[in-house]
Amino acid sequence: MLDVALQTKVAKIPITPRIIPRSGHIISRANIDERALKVLYRLNNAGFQAFLVGGSVRDLLLGREPKDFDVATDALPEQVRELFRNCRLIGRRFRLAHVHFGRDIIEVATFRGADAAEEDGRVLTEDGRILRDNVYGNIDNDAWRRDFTVNALYYNIEDFSVVDYVGGMDDIKAGQIRVVGNTQQRFREDPVRMLRAVRFAVKLGFSIHPQTATPIFELAPLLSEIPPARLFEEILKLFLGGCAVQTFEQLRHYGLFGQLFPQVEVCLSEEEGGFPHMFLARALQNTDRRIAEGKPVTPAFLISALLWDPMRRLADEHRAHELSPAEADQLASDTVISQQISRIAMPRRYTQMTREIWALQPRLTRRVGGTPFRLLSHPRFRAAYDFLVLRAEAGEEVTELAEWWTEFQSAKEARRGELISAASKTVPGKRRRRRR
Ligand code: ATP
Ligand code: MG
Repeated sequence: MLDVALQTKVAKIPITPRIIPRSGHIISRANIDERALKVLYRLNNAGFQAFLVGGSVRDLLLGREPKDFDVATDALPEQVRELFRNCRLIGRRFRLAHVHFGRDIIEVATFRGADAAEEDGRVLTEDGRILRDNVYGNIDNDAWRRDFTVNALYYNIEDFSVVDYVGGMDDIKAGQIRVVGNTQQRFREDPVRMLRAVRFAVKLGFSIHPQTATPIFELAPLLSEIPPARLFEEILKLFLGGCAVQTFEQLRHYGLFGQLFPQVEVCLSEEEGGFPHMFLARALQNTDRRIAEGKPVTPAFLISALLWDPMRRLADEHRAHELSPAEADQLASDTVISQQISRIAMPRRYTQMTREIWALQPRLTRRVGGTPFRLLSHPRFRAAYDFLVLRAEAGEEVTELAEWWTEFQSAKEARRGELISAASKTVPGKRRRRRR
């Protein structure tokens, strides 16, 4: 236990949390993953404390189905490993135990200390960002290390109560995202929390408490310190979580979007006639619809759409400097992608697919001889065609072309021949975008 003097120095930790008994909340074991229950019970039977924590408690309290079930305990990672045969210890920044059940994992975290900046095990950067964090504590201080109050609730397997140190229960009821502790300090420690605030607010339909929201406008530039690989993970959660349109609008509102996609932000801020915004909104709507329908979505399509306008603009500039269209496109793709991956580390398989989707756009205009048949069997044809449809929907002058490909794909052999000869008569126009 921390001594009382330290407790007052740090965040005024209340000694007694609010305990909501089983009769006072809606969490039922019937809604908890069996494997999570197994982990909780085994820890508890071995004499350790064991709680469900984080997103699963929050989602269960909201009557939503949790995505994953995280466990918090006073057992040390090594002690957890001794209890489970199927357990691996992972992580550097946070050391965690992963208990494996086939392809599923229950994550077990040992309680962390409340304010251990000067202790061994916690490493901060000069500006207060956490680099490594392996100071163990107890539930009293673990709660204060969580990002938002609604993420800092604990479900106790011993008596099925919910333990609330930070007012999370009230914020769940009020539908608001609020940072635990001092907002400025917590955002400085880990600027990704600003992205998480937006993500949770959109996903849960919550508002961001003014005290949490206001500092974001000023602190957004701190995102530049986050390693590009971590940002990629966050981007996937932000844009492939089913609410990409709203997330995009919110990220822009708080000035966070420009930190992630600076080249896109430039185009958006200089936009004429609403083109890039309209195009992106369409692309994100498509993504959300596909996710709602349970269809697969690839990050590559999203990247292609996000960076399309910066790439086109740069290609236009290169053409004005006498490069051939193909060279201009190629150079623009390379430049835009390499600038973007210096901010967000997108794996090569995705950037490669983005290049292919883009490179296929002009090729889709060549509707002569055997070319359309060859394009049809190109491994990226489907993605490139979807991208073409998106461009048409967003007001680019490719509607006729997109409709042609729609018909060509489903047409019988004879009709395909007719389509090709009809298309050969129309000279492919210059690919100029109409800005509407
Ligand atoms: P999701 O439904 O997206 O999984 P989640 O709340 O479970 O939401 P996770 O990223 O899985 O989010 O993290 C689990 C818990 O760990 C969070 O609820 C929060 O308590 C804590 N946590 C995660 N990331 C941070 C962070 N950057 N700073 C402080 N606490 C964090
Ligand atoms: Mg989670």
